[in-house]
Amino acid sequence: MSWRLKKKYQGLLAEERGTVRKDWGGKIAFALVYPNTYAVGMSNLGFQTIYRHLNALPDVVCERVFLPDPEDIGELERTEAVPISLESFRPLTDFHMVGFSVTYEGDYVNVLRLLALARIPLRPEDRRPHDPLVLMGGVCAFSNPEPVAPFMDVIVVGEGEELVAELIAAYREGYDDRARLLDALAQLEGVYVPSRYEVVYAPDGTVGEVLSLGAAPAIVTKRRLRNVNAFETVDAVKTPHAEYGHMALLEVGKGCGRGCRFCLEGQVYRPVRHRSVDALRETVARVAASGEKRVGLVGACVSDYPWIGELLKIVEDHGLELSISSIRADSLTDDLVAALARGGHRTLTVAPEAGTERLRRAIRKAITDEQILAACDLVRAHGIPNLKTYFMIGQPTETLEDVEAIPRLAERMLERLCVPDPKAKPFGRLTLSISSFVPKPWTPFQWAPFAGAGALQAKLEIVKHGVRRLHNVRVLHENPREAALQALLARGDRRVADFLELAASFAGDWRRALREWKGDPDFCTTRVRSTDERLPWDHFDVGVKKAGLIREWERAQAELPVTSGAA
Ligand code: SF4
Repeated sequence: MSWRLKKKYQGLLAEERGTVRKDWGGKIAFALVYPNTYAVGMSNLGFQTIYRHLNALPDVVCERVFLPDPEDIGELERTEAVPISLESFRPLTDFHMVGFSVTYEGDYVNVLRLLALARIPLRPEDRRPHDPLVLMGGVCAFSNPEPVAPFMDVIVVGEGEELVAELIAAYREGYDDRARLLDALAQLEGVYVPSRYEVVYAPDGTVGEVLSLGAAPAIVTKRRLRNVNAFETVDAVKTPHAEYGHMALLEVGKGCGRGCRFCLEGQVYRPVRHRSVDALRETVARVAASGEKRVGLVGACVSDYPWIGELLKIVEDHGLELSISSIRADSLTDDLVAALARGGHRTLTVAPEAGTERLRRAIRKAITDEQILAACDLVRAHGIPNLKTYFMIGQPTETLEDVEAIPRLAERMLERLCVPDPKAKPFGRLTLSISSFVPKPWTPFQWAPFAGAGALQAKLEIVKHGVRRLHNVRVLHENPREAALQALLARGDRRVADFLELAASFAGDWRRALREWKGDPDFCTTRVRSTDERLPWDHFDVGVKKAGLIREWERAQAELPVTSGAA
């Protein structure tokens, strides 16, 4: 064991509240793994929720495992030690089941690195009877798990709250015969057993057919939680190291009915299900009684929660400060901003996504410039010192004019945010967070090509150059080459698994792996796909109808640019 890692974990545990420690005797041991650092994993409400639900099962002990920090990985490799769980410092191989919670495709390489460090064979066909069953869940699992599927025994497709108990029951029943267990698991709704499917490629390199083997269903149907009030989603373990460690996170519902054409969450969590006010009232009361001072409301679109006024009052009546991650500019109200200001909110976040109204219509986020500017007025009127905005470059139908409009819009926003007000402190900072558009499965843009790292970099420079002379404006952005990696992993098929294996063998150096991989990344990313093509994720049913997506894709393309000259 790495004593240094153990010491570090002891320090983290000492700062936690809500850690679950259970006796292992006679129980199924489940390692819940977040393939990124402790701080990132502990900020994820889905990860925390599954930790709580698994530990609520009397015959299960669930412990957390994270990707060690780079210096600790180096030490593990040098000393031939293995990753350990946080709660009892046990190696991954001591667990019956190892479940990865994956919300970001870029973490796939980390999944393989953790398996390799733990000396669990990467591919199921090489695993021995005493090796743990390797599972994966999280939103990546019901978007397109194919690139990582060849490394998984089991993939949980959909919302896992109810399913975890069924998985455990099936495991207890059939753990002594792996093949029989996998056959049984493949029968559960929302469970995908990759080894029970064979992918046949067409001569042009696209997916020709996916054959289900044995009794596995031809189509894997996403598991959906029917009664969201039956399962409370609130963070279980508090730590000052999590991004929102200073507040209790509370999910107000699942899904979003707005249908923005780029948004994966807006599609795959359908239908929209809101928790009732009564259910949330109970949770808020418990949060307040636990001594918490601040509550953060979480959901795909919190400001669309139908009883938001009542909920704000409940939060305030319990003396709690309020926080909301991101709000639609067209559903901001004076009451909501006032409540956030009273709750000590120092940065309000809105997501215009595009610089022009034309492009916003094309992506179906039809917020007007005037609504964005009105949001600025509310921020100023209530004395919130900072505004953060999300924009995306590289979206379908985008022109040079759309990109150039981003800094122009920032300038107009700044004028409204900096209106002199003798009663208020001067405005602080306007942040433009610029991300690169990655066409995601199950969205109307799934057929759109990824713009390519070079084109995205050029657009980024236009935005940065455009705001250079504006004081109080800051631009944050990711590297477009990382977006290109994400596009490959979000849109690829099972052949991309070889690239992942290569990247893991190069200690996570995916740039080198891309150079040495025999496959063609452009085939998965920048290639235009026709709506007739069989997509790598077409053997799943996540509740989104293809005909509807095609209709939306055609409508988006009909929203023509006013000027010619694509950027
Ligand atoms: S971008 Fe926001 S508003 Fe649009 S569908 Fe996604 S969650 Fe809903």
